[in-house]
Amino acid sequence: MSVRILYDAAEESAVLYCSTSMWAFGPLFTQDDDHEAVERAEAFLKWLDEAAPYASYEKTQIGSRRDARLLTDAGMQAAYSDWLAAEAAWFRAERGCEVCGEPAGEGGALCPACQLNARA
Ligand SMILES: [Zn+2]
Repeated sequence: MSVRILYDAAEESAVLYCSTSMWAFGPLFTQDDDHEAVERAEAFLKWLDEAAPYASYEKTQIGSRRDARLLTDAGMQAAYSDWLAAEAAWFRAERGCEVCGEPAGEGGALCPACQLNARA
């Protein structure tokens, strides 16, 4: 009994489902930049488990266990929206500085040195 990922390679899309109730739920994950839909669905579940402000999302059940299945539709929408913002920051960090390719600064498109140059 767990949350699993159903992946369609032809559609390049993935959804979450519960292997106990056999019920699919949540957003449709699609390909983005160099990231496959299934990778993005995996990253969402990992983020929800480890980093998301889980307590702030609306749930159908009170409890400390983090479980995507316990989020209401509104709770899932809020979590997905937060995750999209977090993911955009990771993608920027992966791409590195837009000018020199060095690691970019905190959530920025430029490394600290190029940020300074841009301000000068
Ligand atoms: Zn730079």
